[in-house]
Amino acid sequence: AALPAGTPAPPPAPHLFSDPSEIGALRRNLLAWYDGCKRDLPWRTLAAAETDADRRAYAVWVSEIMLQQTQVATVIDYYNRWMQKWPTLQALAQASLEEVNELWAGLGYYSRGKRLQEAAKKVVSELAGRMPRTAEDLQKLLPGVGRYTAGAIASISYGQATGVVDGNVIRVLCRLRCIGADSSSPAVIDRLWDMANALVDRSRPGDFNQALMELGATVCVPKAPLCGECPVKQHCRARRRKLFGKPTPVPDVEDCGVGGCPLCPPATEPWDSSLGVTNFPRKAAKKQPRVARTATCVLERRGCHGAPEYLIVQRPSSGLLAGLWEFPSLPLDQGLQEEKQREALADHLRAWTGWPVVAGGLRFVGEVVHIFSHIHQTYVVYSLPLDGDVTLDPALSPSRWVTEEEFHASAVSTAMKKV
Ligand code: SF4
Repeated sequence: AALPAGTPAPPPAPHLFSDPSEIGALRRNLLAWYDGCKRDLPWRTLAAAETDADRRAYAVWVSEIMLQQTQVATVIDYYNRWMQKWPTLQALAQASLEEVNELWAGLGYYSRGKRLQEAAKKVVSELAGRMPRTAEDLQKLLPGVGRYTAGAIASISYGQATGVVDGNVIRVLCRLRCIGADSSSPAVIDRLWDMANALVDRSRPGDFNQALMELGATVCVPKAPLCGECPVKQHCRARRRKLFGKPTPVPDVEDCGVGGCPLCPPATEPWDSSLGVTNFPRKAAKKQPRVARTATCVLERRGCHGAPEYLIVQRPSSGLLAGLWEFPSLPLDQGLQEEKQREALADHLRAWTGWPVVAGGLRFVGEVVHIFSHIHQTYVVYSLPLDGDVTLDPALSPSRWVTEEEFHASAVSTAMKKV
C-alpha cells in the first residue's frame, strides 16, 4: 500500500526486527543471560530495594549522569560517596555548588554535577519534590536530562516500556542488524530508537535495557567481541555474515540488495571481511581535537606550621571546568618560544599579585599533557617559591592558599592533580 506523503520509507527488512517470534526469543535469551551474569552494582541494589518511587528515580538518575562518558569501575566509588552524602533529592537540593564540585572532582565533565544539582533544586521547589513519572516528562522538565537518561530512569524506576539508546546499544543493534551507515547521523539514530522501543520487553523494560547495555559493555565490546558466548548470537546478522558471507551473492555494491539502502555501509567503504562483526557500527571520521598550551605556575610558601602551601585560584563560573580551582594559569599563543612564554607568565603573575615576579625566577618543572574530550591540552609547568604573603585582588578571581592535603580535597580537575 502507498504511504501517506511525507512518511519516510521503512528501512529494508534485513535491518529490522519484524518477526514477533524472533523478538520474543531475543528478549527471553537476553534476560535469562542478564539474570545469570549481571554485575552487582550499587545503583542496581538500591533501585531493587527502594520502595519509594521518587527515591528510586533519584538513585537511578545519579548513576546515569555519572556513567555518561565514565567507566563503571570509576563511578562506583563516587556514587557511594554521593548517595551517602545526599541520599535524597531534598538533601542534594540543599548542597552548595562548591560541595558538588568537590565530590565530582576527577569524574570529568563537571557541568554534569552542577546540572544534576540544579535539577534537584527544581524538583524540590517547583514540583513539590516529586520526580516526573514518564520519560517524556522527565526529558521536558529536568535540565540536563536528555532522551537517553529519561528513558533509563523511566524504564528502570517506573517500569515504563520505553527503550534506550546509548553507545553500547548502538553497537549491539548495528551489529545485530548489519547497520553500517554513519551511526552518529540523525537518520540512523532515529532508526535505532525505533528499534530499541520495539524490542524492549514489556514486562521487564528496565532489566531489558540494562541487559542490552551490559551486553555491549561486557560481550559485544568494540574491538574483540565474544560472539561465541553471546546470548543473542543466533539473532545476529553481522555474525551470520561473518560466518557465511553474503546471504545472496549479489553482484552489485548494495549490501542488503536494496538499491541506495540508507542503512548499509556506504558503497565507497563496503564490508571488509578482515574486520568481521566489527565492520559495525561505523562513524564518520572524528574531528581532530584542538591543540592548546597553557602556562601554569605553582606558587609555594611556608605556611604557619612550616608546611608548604600552594596558591589556587577559581576559574570563571562558565565555560570549560567552570568554577573549579587551579594553579594560576595563562593560555599561551601557539609557537611561543620558551623564553617568551616565561615572560608572558611573569607579566601575568606580576599584574595579578603585585609581587615583583621576574621571568628568571620562574623554575621550569616540566610539561603535563591532558586530553579533554575536544582539546589536546599541554600545561607548561613552572614553580615559584615565595618568602612572603601574597594576596590577590578578590575582584579579579577568588583565591586561597592550601596545603597538599587540602588541595586534593578541593574542587580541582584531574589535569591540575597531574600538574
Ligand atoms: Fe555482538 Fe557478536 Fe553477539 Fe553479534 S554475536 S551481538 S557481534 S557479541
